[in-house]
Amino acid sequence: MIDLHTHTDESDGTLSPQELIEEAGRIGVTALAITDHDTLAGYDLAIPHANTAGIELVCGVELSIKYRGRSIHLLVYFPQHQPTGDFRQWLLALQEGRRKRNEALVRKLCSQGMPITLEEVAAHGRRLLARPHFAAVMVEKGYAASRQEAFQKYLDESGSCFIPREEPEFEEAIDRIRASQGIAVLPHPGRIGVSPEHLESMVGELCALGLKGIEVYHSEHSPAEVDFYLYLARKFRIAATGGSDFHGAAKPGIALGTGLRGNLHLPHTILQELRRIP
Ligand code: AMP
Ligand code: FE
Ligand code: FE
Ligand code: ZN
Repeated sequence: MIDLHTHTDESDGTLSPQELIEEAGRIGVTALAITDHDTLAGYDLAIPHANTAGIELVCGVELSIKYRGRSIHLLVYFPQHQPTGDFRQWLLALQEGRRKRNEALVRKLCSQGMPITLEEVAAHGRRLLARPHFAAVMVEKGYAASRQEAFQKYLDESGSCFIPREEPEFEEAIDRIRASQGIAVLPHPGRIGVSPEHLESMVGELCALGLKGIEVYHSEHSPAEVDFYLYLARKFRIAATGGSDFHGAAKPGIALGTGLRGNLHLPHTILQELRRIP
């Protein structure tokens, strides 16, 4: 069993890289990609633990990018080569944009009668702070009954305190990914929130620009969605990848490797397919 989509506490997961590797070993995950938001710190820290545990570790990262005005996530894998220094520098620039967003979000929440400090948010995370860390503080301070409600009312794109982040255009991202010999994969396509017909044409456009894979298997995908995304992978001749999107206690119910109520069990051939991409 493998898992190609996981988060550590270096982004918005709750397990440390070492704990994630230990959990992978415990449940029999033989190959694991760490795909934290905007950072390779979790991957870097996990390397020695993966070596000790005999787990095949794949370098990855999950970016937030813009395509035709829509904000979407993009997974990037480096199955053959480590990313270049240029790519790491670019990630640092993206993290700076996140920090600016976080500061603006604090000001927005304060102005809306929900005083909050960056220090309070930082207590819930490590180096990188994301909206789930804000949601945790908002529940703690009684501004929202649950993290879900904090997102729905305030933090989501339709929430009253939403602050957009500077995000690179897909075209820029793909140029940088290619220059670093990375592989771009579209994760959880259902979350883009467009009709199947629209998604089909969008995936076609993204493939023409350099998309190499689509996340067919994911904790949130129904069997019908899996079928549709598999159809898209075949139609556009791109890799069909998969992962749980494990976030530890931040997304209870989603288990490493096996997903939601055991709906995932990904064979190693999925990683082999990813490695065959030129
Ligand atoms: P950020 O990267 O700081 O903008 O935070 C985005 C992260 O927040 C996503 O990767 C998810 O893990 C989480 N997230 C986004 N929307 C929701 C939601 N409605 N409920 C819970 N978590 C969410
Ligand atoms: Fe996340
Ligand atoms: Fe995502
Ligand atoms: Zn993710």
